[in-house]
Amino acid sequence: MPALILDGKSLAKQTENQLKQRVERLRESTGKTPVLATILVGNDPASETYVKMKGNACQRVGMESLRIVLPKNINTEELLDKIRELNDNPNVHGILLQHPVPRHIDERKAFEAIDLRKDVDGVTCLGFGRMSMGQEAYGSATPAGIISLLKHYEIPLAGKHAVVVGRSAILGKPMAMMLLAEDCTVTICHSKTNNLPDLIRQADILIGAVGKPEFIKTSWIKKGAVVVDAGYHPGGVGDIEKEGLDSIASAFTPVPGGVGPMTINTLIRQTVESGEKVL
Ligand code: NAP
Repeated sequence: MPALILDGKSLAKQTENQLKQRVERLRESTGKTPVLATILVGNDPASETYVKMKGNACQRVGMESLRIVLPKNINTEELLDKIRELNDNPNVHGILLQHPVPRHIDERKAFEAIDLRKDVDGVTCLGFGRMSMGQEAYGSATPAGIISLLKHYEIPLAGKHAVVVGRSAILGKPMAMMLLAEDCTVTICHSKTNNLPDLIRQADILIGAVGKPEFIKTSWIKKGAVVVDAGYHPGGVGDIEKEGLDSIASAFTPVPGGVGPMTINTLIRQTVESGEKVL
Protein backbone atom coordinates (compact mmCIF):
# COMPACT_ATOMS: atom_id res chain seq x y z
CA MET A 1 0.00 0.00 0.00
CA PRO A 2 1.37 3.46 -0.83
CA ALA A 3 2.19 5.64 2.17
CA LEU A 4 -0.42 8.13 3.30
CA ILE A 5 0.69 11.72 2.77
CA LEU A 6 -0.02 13.89 5.80
CA ASP A 7 -0.92 16.95 3.78
CA GLY A 8 -0.54 19.94 6.07
CA LYS A 9 -1.05 22.40 3.25
CA SER A 10 -4.55 21.20 2.42
CA LEU A 11 -5.57 20.79 6.09
CA ALA A 12 -4.36 24.34 6.81
CA LYS A 13 -6.43 25.62 3.88
CA GLN A 14 -9.56 23.84 5.13
CA THR A 15 -9.04 25.17 8.65
CA GLU A 16 -8.53 28.69 7.32
CA ASN A 17 -12.04 28.63 5.86
CA GLN A 18 -13.46 27.76 9.30
CA LEU A 19 -11.33 30.45 10.95
CA LYS A 20 -12.54 33.03 8.46
CA GLN A 21 -16.13 32.29 9.51
CA ARG A 22 -15.22 32.54 13.22
CA VAL A 23 -13.54 35.92 12.63
CA GLU A 24 -16.60 37.16 10.76
CA ARG A 25 -18.95 35.98 13.52
CA LEU A 26 -16.81 37.68 16.16
CA ARG A 27 -16.79 40.94 14.21
CA GLU A 28 -20.55 40.83 13.72
CA SER A 29 -21.36 40.04 17.33
CA THR A 30 -18.79 42.21 19.15
CA GLY A 31 -17.24 44.54 16.57
CA LYS A 32 -13.88 43.02 17.49
CA THR A 33 -11.24 41.84 14.99
CA PRO A 34 -8.48 39.58 16.35
CA VAL A 35 -5.06 41.20 16.07
CA LEU A 36 -1.73 39.37 16.03
CA ALA A 37 1.28 41.56 16.81
CA THR A 38 4.46 40.23 15.18
CA ILE A 39 7.83 41.44 16.40
CA LEU A 40 10.86 41.05 14.17
CA VAL A 41 14.21 42.17 15.53
CA GLY A 42 16.77 42.88 12.80
CA ASN A 43 16.56 41.94 9.13
CA ASP A 44 17.40 38.25 8.85
CA PRO A 45 15.90 37.31 5.45
CA ALA A 46 14.48 33.93 6.59
CA SER A 47 12.82 35.55 9.63
CA GLU A 48 11.46 38.35 7.43
CA THR A 49 9.88 35.71 5.18
CA TYR A 50 8.34 33.80 8.12
CA VAL A 51 6.84 37.00 9.59
CA LYS A 52 5.47 37.98 6.19
CA MET A 53 3.87 34.53 5.77
CA LYS A 54 2.22 34.87 9.19
CA GLY A 55 0.92 38.35 8.30
CA ASN A 56 -0.46 37.03 5.00
CA ALA A 57 -2.25 34.19 6.82
CA CYS A 58 -3.87 36.77 9.16
CA GLN A 59 -5.12 38.66 6.12
CA ARG A 60 -6.55 35.52 4.50
CA VAL A 61 -8.81 34.85 7.49
CA GLY A 62 -9.81 38.49 7.91
CA MET A 63 -7.67 39.15 11.00
CA GLU A 64 -5.29 42.05 11.40
CA SER A 65 -1.58 41.84 11.96
CA LEU A 66 0.35 44.59 13.65
CA ARG A 67 3.85 44.37 12.24
CA ILE A 68 6.63 45.66 14.46
CA VAL A 69 10.20 45.72 13.15
CA LEU A 70 12.92 46.71 15.59
CA PRO A 71 16.53 47.50 14.72
CA LYS A 72 19.00 44.68 15.37
CA ASN A 73 21.03 46.78 17.83
CA ILE A 74 18.24 47.28 20.39
CA ASN A 75 18.92 45.82 23.82
CA THR A 76 16.89 43.37 25.90
CA GLU A 77 15.26 46.14 28.00
CA GLU A 78 14.05 47.99 24.90
CA LEU A 79 12.52 44.78 23.54
CA LEU A 80 10.87 44.10 26.91
CA ASP A 81 9.37 47.62 26.88
CA LYS A 82 7.80 46.93 23.48
CA ILE A 83 6.39 43.59 24.66
CA ARG A 84 4.93 45.21 27.82
CA GLU A 85 3.31 47.89 25.66
CA LEU A 86 1.65 45.17 23.54
CA ASN A 87 0.60 43.28 26.70
CA ASP A 88 -1.20 46.44 27.85
CA ASN A 89 -2.83 47.12 24.49
CA PRO A 90 -6.40 45.77 24.66
CA ASN A 91 -6.63 45.70 20.87
CA VAL A 92 -3.82 43.12 20.61
CA HIS A 93 -4.87 39.49 21.16
CA GLY A 94 -1.69 37.61 20.35
CA ILE A 95 2.04 38.37 20.39
CA LEU A 96 4.59 36.60 18.23
CA LEU A 97 8.28 37.29 18.82
CA GLN A 98 10.09 35.84 15.81
CA HIS A 99 12.86 33.41 16.82
CA PRO A 100 15.82 33.80 16.74
CA VAL A 101 16.53 37.33 17.99
CA PRO A 102 20.11 38.70 17.72
CA ARG A 103 22.46 36.92 20.13
CA HIS A 104 23.08 39.90 22.44
CA ILE A 105 19.38 39.87 23.40
CA ASP A 106 18.14 37.56 26.15
CA GLU A 107 15.51 35.74 24.11
CA ARG A 108 14.19 33.67 27.02
CA LYS A 109 13.64 36.81 29.09
CA ALA A 110 11.79 38.37 26.16
CA PHE A 111 9.57 35.30 25.69
CA GLU A 112 8.78 35.26 29.41
CA ALA A 113 7.64 38.89 29.24
CA ILE A 114 4.72 37.92 26.99
CA ASP A 115 1.41 37.91 28.86
CA LEU A 116 0.21 34.29 29.13
CA ARG A 117 -3.18 35.31 27.70
CA LYS A 118 -1.46 36.60 24.56
CA ASP A 119 1.14 33.80 24.28
CA VAL A 120 -0.48 32.37 21.14
CA ASP A 121 2.85 30.92 19.95
CA GLY A 122 3.19 28.96 23.21
CA VAL A 123 6.70 30.12 24.12
CA THR A 124 6.48 30.98 27.82
CA CYS A 125 7.64 28.62 30.60
CA LEU A 126 4.27 29.05 32.30
CA GLY A 127 2.41 28.11 29.13
CA PHE A 128 4.69 25.08 28.65
CA GLY A 129 4.22 24.01 32.27
CA ARG A 130 0.45 24.39 32.13
CA MET A 131 0.24 22.50 28.82
CA SER A 132 2.43 19.72 30.27
CA MET A 133 0.14 19.43 33.31
CA GLY A 134 -2.98 19.27 31.14
CA GLN A 135 -4.10 22.80 32.10
CA GLU A 136 -5.47 25.35 29.66
CA ALA A 137 -2.69 27.04 27.66
CA TYR A 138 -1.80 27.75 24.06
CA GLY A 139 0.53 25.04 22.78
CA SER A 140 3.81 25.76 21.07
CA ALA A 141 2.68 26.30 17.47
CA THR A 142 4.79 23.73 15.59
CA PRO A 143 4.19 20.68 17.83
CA ALA A 144 0.53 21.64 18.36
CA GLY A 145 0.18 21.82 14.57
CA ILE A 146 1.75 18.36 14.27
CA ILE A 147 -0.73 16.93 16.79
CA SER A 148 -3.64 18.48 14.82
CA LEU A 149 -2.29 16.91 11.63
CA LEU A 150 -1.90 13.45 13.21
CA LYS A 151 -5.41 13.66 14.67
CA HIS A 152 -6.95 14.84 11.42
CA TYR A 153 -5.57 11.74 9.68
CA GLU A 154 -6.72 9.59 12.64
CA ILE A 155 -3.22 8.25 13.29
CA PRO A 156 -3.48 6.00 16.37
CA LEU A 157 -1.30 7.44 19.12
CA ALA A 158 -2.19 5.70 22.42
CA GLY A 159 0.36 3.06 23.37
CA LYS A 160 2.63 3.84 20.40
CA HIS A 161 6.33 4.42 20.83
CA ALA A 162 7.09 7.97 19.69
CA VAL A 163 10.71 8.97 19.19
CA VAL A 164 11.34 12.72 19.08
CA VAL A 165 14.75 13.69 17.72
CA GLY A 166 15.48 17.17 19.11
CA ARG A 167 14.75 18.80 22.47
CA SER A 168 14.48 22.51 21.74
CA ALA A 169 12.15 24.62 23.88
CA ILE A 170 9.89 25.47 20.93
CA LEU A 171 9.75 22.08 19.28
CA GLY A 172 11.25 18.88 20.70
CA LYS A 173 10.32 19.33 24.38
CA PRO A 174 6.70 20.47 23.90
CA MET A 175 6.30 17.82 21.18
CA ALA A 176 7.31 15.13 23.65
CA MET A 177 4.87 16.42 26.29
CA MET A 178 2.01 16.61 23.78
CA LEU A 179 2.64 13.04 22.60
CA LEU A 180 2.78 11.91 26.23
CA ALA A 181 -0.61 13.58 26.78
CA GLU A 182 -1.88 11.45 23.88
CA ASP A 183 -0.68 8.33 25.76
CA CYS A 184 2.35 7.64 23.59
CA THR A 185 5.45 6.14 25.18
CA VAL A 186 7.99 8.84 24.40
CA THR A 187 11.75 8.76 23.85
CA ILE A 188 13.50 12.12 23.45
CA CYS A 189 16.82 12.13 21.59
CA HIS A 190 19.42 14.89 21.35
CA SER A 191 23.02 15.54 20.37
CA LYS A 192 24.42 13.43 23.25
CA THR A 193 22.16 10.43 22.61
CA ASN A 194 24.00 7.14 22.06
CA ASN A 195 22.89 4.67 19.39
CA LEU A 196 20.47 7.06 17.73
CA PRO A 197 19.75 4.79 14.73
CA ASP A 198 18.83 1.92 17.11
CA LEU A 199 16.37 4.13 19.00
CA ILE A 200 14.85 5.45 15.78
CA ARG A 201 14.37 1.84 14.58
CA GLN A 202 12.00 1.34 17.55
CA ALA A 203 9.76 4.27 16.62
CA ASP A 204 6.14 3.71 15.63
CA ILE A 205 5.97 7.50 15.33
CA LEU A 206 9.11 9.42 14.43
CA ILE A 207 9.44 13.19 14.76
CA GLY A 208 12.50 14.77 13.12
CA ALA A 209 13.33 18.12 14.73
CA VAL A 210 17.13 18.17 14.47
CA GLY A 211 17.78 21.20 12.29
CA LYS A 212 20.24 19.33 10.02
CA PRO A 213 19.38 18.57 6.38
CA GLU A 214 18.45 14.90 5.81
CA PHE A 215 20.29 13.91 8.99
CA ILE A 216 17.93 11.00 9.77
CA LYS A 217 18.44 8.21 7.24
CA THR A 218 15.63 6.18 5.71
CA SER A 219 17.55 2.99 6.56
CA TRP A 220 17.10 3.78 10.30
CA ILE A 221 13.29 3.84 10.03
CA LYS A 222 11.06 0.88 10.91
CA LYS A 223 8.74 -0.38 8.17
CA GLY A 224 5.26 1.06 8.69
CA ALA A 225 6.34 3.95 10.96
CA VAL A 226 4.53 7.28 10.83
CA VAL A 227 7.16 9.88 9.97
CA VAL A 228 6.86 13.60 10.71
CA ASP A 229 9.59 15.89 9.43
CA ALA A 230 9.58 19.31 11.13
CA GLY A 231 12.82 20.38 9.45
CA TYR A 232 12.99 22.87 6.66
CA HIS A 233 16.14 23.80 4.77
CA PRO A 234 16.92 25.59 1.50
CA GLY A 235 15.93 23.55 -1.52
CA GLY A 236 12.88 22.06 0.18
CA VAL A 237 14.88 19.55 2.22
CA GLY A 238 13.82 18.39 5.67
CA ASP A 239 15.64 16.74 8.58
CA ILE A 240 14.79 13.27 7.26
CA GLU A 241 16.11 11.67 4.08
CA LYS A 242 13.40 11.67 1.40
CA GLU A 243 14.73 8.91 -0.85
CA GLY A 244 12.79 5.69 -0.25
CA LEU A 245 10.64 7.15 2.54
CA ASP A 246 7.36 6.47 0.75
CA SER A 247 8.09 2.74 0.57
CA ILE A 248 9.07 2.43 4.26
CA ALA A 249 6.69 4.75 6.14
CA SER A 250 2.96 4.05 6.45
CA ALA A 251 2.40 7.82 6.52
CA PHE A 252 4.68 10.84 6.25
CA THR A 253 4.68 14.62 6.06
CA PRO A 254 5.98 16.09 2.80
CA VAL A 255 8.61 18.83 2.86
CA PRO A 256 7.45 21.44 2.01
CA GLY A 257 3.68 21.28 2.59
CA GLY A 258 3.57 19.18 5.77
CA VAL A 259 4.48 20.73 9.12
CA GLY A 260 5.19 24.33 8.00
CA PRO A 261 1.62 25.31 7.01
CA MET A 262 0.29 23.71 10.22
CA THR A 263 2.59 25.88 12.35
CA ILE A 264 1.22 29.10 10.88
CA ASN A 265 -2.31 27.74 11.00
CA THR A 266 -2.01 26.93 14.71
CA LEU A 267 -0.67 30.40 15.48
CA ILE A 268 -3.61 31.99 13.67
CA ARG A 269 -6.17 29.66 15.27
CA GLN A 270 -4.80 30.39 18.74
CA THR A 271 -4.98 34.14 18.07
CA VAL A 272 -8.62 33.79 17.00
CA GLU A 273 -9.28 31.85 20.23
CA SER A 274 -7.64 34.63 22.22
CA GLY A 275 -9.76 37.21 20.38
CA GLU A 276 -12.89 35.26 21.25
CA LYS A 277 -12.06 35.44 24.95
CA VAL A 278 -12.81 38.55 26.95
CA LEU A 279 -9.37 39.81 27.96
P1 NAP B 1 17.35 23.64 17.43
O1 NAP B 1 16.93 24.62 18.46
O2 NAP B 1 18.61 23.86 16.68
O3 NAP B 1 17.37 22.20 18.11
C1 NAP B 1 17.88 21.09 17.44
C2 NAP B 1 17.82 19.90 18.34
O4 NAP B 1 18.41 18.81 17.63
C3 NAP B 1 18.60 20.07 19.64
O5 NAP B 1 17.85 19.60 20.72
C4 NAP B 1 19.84 19.23 19.42
O6 NAP B 1 20.34 18.58 20.58
C5 NAP B 1 19.34 18.17 18.47
N1 NAP B 1 20.46 17.62 17.70
C6 NAP B 1 21.43 18.31 17.07
N2 NAP B 1 22.32 17.44 16.54
C7 NAP B 1 21.90 16.20 16.85
C8 NAP B 1 22.41 14.91 16.62
N3 NAP B 1 23.55 14.72 15.97
N4 NAP B 1 21.72 13.85 17.09
C9 NAP B 1 20.55 14.03 17.77
N5 NAP B 1 20.03 15.24 18.04
C10 NAP B 1 20.70 16.31 17.59
O7 NAP B 1 16.22 23.50 16.31
P2 NAP B 1 14.62 23.71 16.39
O8 NAP B 1 14.33 25.16 16.51
O9 NAP B 1 14.03 22.74 17.35
O10 NAP B 1 14.25 23.26 14.91
C11 NAP B 1 14.45 21.95 14.43
C12 NAP B 1 14.08 21.88 12.96
O11 NAP B 1 12.73 22.23 12.80
C13 NAP B 1 14.86 22.85 12.07
O12 NAP B 1 15.08 22.21 10.82
C14 NAP B 1 13.92 24.03 11.90
O13 NAP B 1 14.12 24.70 10.67
C15 NAP B 1 12.61 23.32 11.89
N6 NAP B 1 11.48 24.16 12.35
C16 NAP B 1 10.41 24.18 11.52
C17 NAP B 1 9.30 24.92 11.89
C18 NAP B 1 8.15 24.91 10.96
O14 NAP B 1 7.23 25.68 11.15
N7 NAP B 1 8.15 24.06 9.97
C19 NAP B 1 9.28 25.63 13.09
C20 NAP B 1 10.38 25.55 13.93
C21 NAP B 1 11.47 24.82 13.54
P3 NAP B 1 21.00 19.39 21.84
O15 NAP B 1 19.83 19.94 22.62
O16 NAP B 1 21.74 18.36 22.56
O17 NAP B 1 21.85 20.47 21.25
